[in-house]
Amino acid sequence: MKRKFGIDIDGTVTCPATIVPYLNEAFHLNLTFDDFKEYDWLQVIDVSENEFNDWYLRNEANIYMESPLASGAKEVLLEWGRDHDLVFISARGEELLQITKDWFIRHGLPYHHIELIGTHQKVEAAKKYAVEIFLEDKYDNAIDIYNHCHIPVILFNTPYNQGPLPNKIKRVFSWKEAKIWVDKWISH
Ligand SMILES: [Mg+2]
Repeated sequence: MKRKFGIDIDGTVTCPATIVPYLNEAFHLNLTFDDFKEYDWLQVIDVSENEFNDWYLRNEANIYMESPLASGAKEVLLEWGRDHDLVFISARGEELLQITKDWFIRHGLPYHHIELIGTHQKVEAAKKYAVEIFLEDKYDNAIDIYNHCHIPVILFNTPYNQGPLPNKIKRVFSWKEAKIWVDKWISH
């Protein structure tokens, strides 16, 4: 049966540690991925909000172009993309759509639709596209989507998304594990 997937991009399809070397270089830090216990990078680095936002606006396009894939993501997405609709729903700004599509094409990733909503409020988009399952890396997004859409959510484990989860949100440690869980869900 054909299913409709909602899938986050950054930290889910892209490697969640992507930002670390950029921050280290820009702000002369020596952080490791394990230091990122908060989703909000400003809680981790000691830089003013203005300085950080200036830097981010100047660099985000480049970071998104160069982001490495999350380990194992491509193989799984290629397989799901053959039988199902993959709708990517991201907090990136709409102006980054071309860069984002180019990145998908360059990496040979299938997509049915890419929706850049420019905000972390993903519930509306998840409802609009009637996705039946969601894959995320942001803890409060996972909780929100589950609470408002009543669909299973896969949360890719990272240092910044720890916390208790309801039963219908499945924490996974790899794309391989996600595939096993989702394939079982599809077959039921
Ligand atoms: Mg994300």
